[in-house]
Amino acid sequence: MADDIQYLKGVGPKKAALFGGLDIATVSDLLHYYPRAYQDRRPGAPVSELKKIESVCILATVINTQILPTRYLSIFKAFLQDDKQQIYEAVWFKPRSFRYDPFAVLKRDFKPGAKLWVVGRREDKNSFTSRKINVDEYYPADLPSAKIHVNGFIPLYSLTQGLNNKFFRECVAAAVEKYLAKEPEILPQTLLAKRKLLNIKQALYGVHFPSSLRELEAARRRMVYEEFLLMTMAWQIKQKQGKEISKDYTYQIKRTLLTPFKNNLGFNFTRAQTHVINEIFADLQKPKPMTRLLQGDVGSGKTVVALSAMLLAVENGWQAAFMAPTEILASQHFLTMQKYLKDLGIKAELLTSKTTPAQKAKILEKLAAGKIDILTGTHSLIEDAVKFKNLKLIVIDEQHRFGVKQRAKLRAKAKYIDMLSMTATPIPRTFALAFYGDLDVSTIDELPPGRKPVKTVQADETAAIKMVEAEIAKGRQAYIVYPLIDESDKLALKAATAEFEKLQKLLPHLKIAMIHGAMKAAEKQKVMDDFAAGKIDILAATPVIEVGIDIKNASIIVIQNAERFGMASLHQLRGRVGRGEHESCCVLVAPQQSAISAERIRTICATCDGFKIGEKDLEIRGPGEILGTRQSGELDFKTGDLIKDKEVLTWAVEDRGFLLNDDPQLSKPENQPFKQRLMELYQKQWHLIDLG
Ligand code: ADP
Ligand code: MG
Repeated sequence: MADDIQYLKGVGPKKAALFGGLDIATVSDLLHYYPRAYQDRRPGAPVSELKKIESVCILATVINTQILPTRYLSIFKAFLQDDKQQIYEAVWFKPRSFRYDPFAVLKRDFKPGAKLWVVGRREDKNSFTSRKINVDEYYPADLPSAKIHVNGFIPLYSLTQGLNNKFFRECVAAAVEKYLAKEPEILPQTLLAKRKLLNIKQALYGVHFPSSLRELEAARRRMVYEEFLLMTMAWQIKQKQGKEISKDYTYQIKRTLLTPFKNNLGFNFTRAQTHVINEIFADLQKPKPMTRLLQGDVGSGKTVVALSAMLLAVENGWQAAFMAPTEILASQHFLTMQKYLKDLGIKAELLTSKTTPAQKAKILEKLAAGKIDILTGTHSLIEDAVKFKNLKLIVIDEQHRFGVKQRAKLRAKAKYIDMLSMTATPIPRTFALAFYGDLDVSTIDELPPGRKPVKTVQADETAAIKMVEAEIAKGRQAYIVYPLIDESDKLALKAATAEFEKLQKLLPHLKIAMIHGAMKAAEKQKVMDDFAAGKIDILAATPVIEVGIDIKNASIIVIQNAERFGMASLHQLRGRVGRGEHESCCVLVAPQQSAISAERIRTICATCDGFKIGEKDLEIRGPGEILGTRQSGELDFKTGDLIKDKEVLTWAVEDRGFLLNDDPQLSKPENQPFKQRLMELYQKQWHLIDLG
């Protein structure tokens, strides 16, 4: 390879191996290895004016030097004067040696009268007036290469042992000088002009050796734009390929199951539910497989919408799968189904990690034989052993709690598949567009009638208990939730149980019962039935009640150690109250708040809007967490920051549409370099992109 890094001036095979460790094989790789930070090495700011900045860079004249031998160390001191007549004392420490002069080089370079650039750290970081500096780097003022290292914003790179920044900068400078002209421009001119972006040569120069912060920002923006455009284009293509195939079956709306199901409900669909059901049915009847996101706030009634879609599949003689992130949630859905699908003759089963091997074997056998219509479950559904006879529709509840790969695995259970994902904390629109391409979105934008907004406050435990007593005195019921994020955590369960016993002693006149995930299904059901019948005043619970519980007379929920819950969970838990005609309230007891948990709690108190909570969550936790890609690293950007560079992301999404509209196959000559880079970057990562 002609531009193999080892042939760059000063590198050679040994150093090339070190570059290899940083994934730099060619000079072009080096040019695209961006600094991790920049140091302000503009001269002139006297040390006394530098606030907490430890590093100093001065252009100084040597006045004189001094050598101070101590017992173990030798000290070399140089007194320097800058152009503002400030005097500095530069110091170097070296071990004493009788065999050679440790300061030979310094003596040569720091002759009185010599002019040098000196970069160092102030010896006393806490004193603004200290003019003593520990020298890191220095360069004779007339050295032509000095300008790479001083007098501006100087790049610092993430390096490995054996490479230092000074050497690395020199390599980058050599690469810039010799190879930058050859660096191809992959972005079409029209887009560069439209967004007023630097071309690749200006941008790479500016990223490594910016002459001002403005130039640096402009250079960075161009590189971020390129990165985002490539990424979002790749997602779009991936998405589109999924849609270009045509299903080999067609849905017919027979209503043989849908009508009795509606009659079983005991309520009417809201206008919003009817609307999204129509959207989903229209999608299912199209030849292209459905990829639809159903968003709707907690309690907006997504489950019955999903059930409607699944029933349509069953009416047509096919199977549907319903995947939920937790065992509790999956069993709740299963129970809901049993209630609403009563007498419909539907064969439904539940598969979770709690299913016994014998039961599981039976389920798998029936599933493969087509004797199960709807299989509900957890991650267990994606196991290889789970084989459907005739799967046509999958529903993924709380889709953000699954990773990209898990969703893809379920999808791969059939050749053609319609997919409905659901969420109560939706991702902001720019993100949805960027990462899901033209994903279809349905929104349930109203709650069933009679729901009241829940007032959310913070309080200490004593005050919270008082509020609970007051509600019970009015004839209401209460939830108290203990933080047990992992239901199989025995120690935490013990702690929650101890809290529960404490509560019983504190409120002997009240009927209190406990519910948690480790209880048998029948026991849980008994407690829930008693609570529903009003035989229990306070339900002390682990977060098992996060979803699916619907008791209209419960008007207060206390969440203990609320600082340990994520925002989506708090929002879900809060959704347990406010379901009847009573004013309801959610009390957060959060004694150990960090800055981040305090922000979460503030947000939850301030808004009941799941969309706003979703946005804030994104800001706090970052997109990788939310989109389920954190582990797979698909969203690890080199330069771009999805939050800070939101505007550039919007540009990229817009321009993706513009490019594809103009040239759907990216076959025009001016788009070739871009297409090629796209394939190089993403083909190895995804295997899926195949532009032909
Ligand atoms: P989510 O959207 O949070 O998943 P669910 O599907 O669990 O909400 O619905 C919450 C509760 O509202 C359930 O008890 C459900 O039976 C009830 N529900 C759903 N739709 C309606 C409606 N149109 N009218 C009254 N209650 C409804
Ligand atoms: Mg739900």
